[in-house]
Amino acid sequence: MAKLTGSAKPLIGITPSSLDKQSVLQQDYAEWVSRSGGVPLMLPYSGGTTEDAAQLAAVLDGLLLSGGADIDPIHFGEEPIQGLGNITPERDAAELALIREFVRLDKPVFGICRGIQVLNAALGGTLYQDIHSQCSPSPLKHSQKAVASYPTHHIAIEAGSRLATLAGGLGERVNSFHHQAVKEAAPGLLITARTADGIVEAVESPTHRFVLGVQWHPEKMEAGDRLSAALFGAFVDACAWSGEQAVQ
Ligand code: MN
Repeated sequence: MAKLTGSAKPLIGITPSSLDKQSVLQQDYAEWVSRSGGVPLMLPYSGGTTEDAAQLAAVLDGLLLSGGADIDPIHFGEEPIQGLGNITPERDAAELALIREFVRLDKPVFGICRGIQVLNAALGGTLYQDIHSQCSPSPLKHSQKAVASYPTHHIAIEAGSRLATLAGGLGERVNSFHHQAVKEAAPGLLITARTADGIVEAVESPTHRFVLGVQWHPEKMEAGDRLSAALFGAFVDACAWSGEQAVQ
């Protein structure tokens, strides 16, 4: 099925933002994939079918879900509230189909910011459409004004999680650029990090090779950042292993 040879680098599909009929990808996502030993491939929104998503999942070794606009709450059974921002239905549809197929095949999925949210929605979880109006008491500042590479809030990490292993401990400081967040984790996903106000900052599947989402932006950290290197490194390594298995 897979066309990889033993020495080929894993081929990793990255979902871009959808802006006015343009597919736009911040290059730092692709740079981290390359730096970590993978080959990045951007996946545009062409209005393709779920069969197309299945074909992509069969060929690619991993899926990286980038940040971006809000998720249409129809995907977790809610009507839109006043605090909902821009939505991109074409992106929702494509990502939901890709995620479900990658997870079904047990191929690695790494979700960043919007990516943790769409991952959770795809697997049956719910989201806060707008944490500022839906969470009480008022949450911490999750839309930082500081430069993107500067971590502004603490997260407490669950002991025994993959994230704890990658972080090498149970506390980190991370950056924050979001107003939506995971509310109820999808069946099969564990919440593995929260901020002091209770907002979910990471989820993972304990039963898949690599299904993990983070609410922060590891790709915006500088190239030598320890936690970002650990996250992207583990993701790309899992993709490489996935390719080797598929060849057999
Ligand atoms: Mn945050």
